[in-house]
Amino acid sequence: MFVRAIEKETLRLLLEMGKSSHPNEYMVMLGAEDGVINTVYPIAGTVTSEDSASIFMDMIPLGMGLAGTAHSHPEGPYTPSDADLATFAETGQIHLIVGQPFDETAWAAYGRNGQPKHLDIV
Ligand SMILES: [Zn+2]
Repeated sequence: MFVRAIEKETLRLLLEMGKSSHPNEYMVMLGAEDGVINTVYPIAGTVTSEDSASIFMDMIPLGMGLAGTAHSHPEGPYTPSDADLATFAETGQIHLIVGQPFDETAWAAYGRNGQPKHLDIV
């Protein structure tokens, strides 16, 4: 599945979650239909450190159509950390990071190897 876009409502939800979980980080899985990200799968428990990525991987239900992940950088810019890049390489094809000030410009999407990806907002 080639992911080319994200629904506006889904993006809004991701930004809202960044705001409401602040100062903690959150992480969710993203589902897509026809190349458009339209589903957020919350993960049980609280993700508070970059080490949580491996726990996260164990929680992905079997058979789920996974587009990728989204998580927040509560204080920093929305560029991937080294730990993020390792997670990106393991799962999904598109990875969103949202950051301050959690408005509609405060996010970026990356591919498996960390290169920036363009996503249309639909
Ligand atoms: Zn990160």
